[in-house]
Amino acid sequence: MKYYYDLHLHSCLSPCGDMDMTPNNIVNMAKLLGLDVIALTDHNTSLNCEAAMKAGEKIGLLVIAGMELTTSEDIHAVCLFPTLEKALKWNDYVDNHRIKIKNKPDIYGRQVIMNENDEETGETEHLLIPATDISIMSAHKLVKDFGGVCYPAHIDRDSLSILSVLGEIDESCGFTTAELADKTRLSALRAQHPILNTLKIVTNSDAHYLENMREAENFIELPELTAENVIEYLDN
Ligand SMILES: [Zn+2]
Ligand SMILES: [Zn+2]
Repeated sequence: MKYYYDLHLHSCLSPCGDMDMTPNNIVNMAKLLGLDVIALTDHNTSLNCEAAMKAGEKIGLLVIAGMELTTSEDIHAVCLFPTLEKALKWNDYVDNHRIKIKNKPDIYGRQVIMNENDEETGETEHLLIPATDISIMSAHKLVKDFGGVCYPAHIDRDSLSILSVLGEIDESCGFTTAELADKTRLSALRAQHPILNTLKIVTNSDAHYLENMREAENFIELPELTAENVIEYLDN
């Protein structure tokens, strides 16, 4: 079966995420756009995943718990987990491996944690965006040890991407998947970076605003839609 996905979305917990990116607004918009599965991937945190998963459950949309990790090299990588528990364990690990700078909501934006009814339950004190001390070289293996999958985000962007920082995707990173912001660039990139011929390519919206979420056009084929199956697919 074909399942339409968007595996890179930010909520109001990301300082750069719009306050309208509430758990219910995200899942309802995803449903409206015809998506079957989404992942919530806030910067260096998974603390809104529970609310989004519960909101998704109410309307029959699969929400995968995730995070967009900032590595020590300032490279963004999407991390996805088969269960909320695994994502939260990873969340705790990352929380102990990131630089703690107090957020200034007026400058960087609020970082709001919500419950499944879109009610505010808290706000994270430290700015979520800065780099962790986790290297891109170890990210895939480390996330796998936590039971998830990790792939380099928006590799075709001019900043905060593995290609813009390192110039290449080293085989020893162990990645099985890479994310492209604009899939029309794939053939040109494959000519430049042959390793891309061996990786699965996914295209996600990376939306920080409801209006930037995209119509269902990217799909994966799975026998049955479960978080485990999506992660297994991406990790092979
Ligand atoms: Zn990013
Ligand atoms: Zn992002």
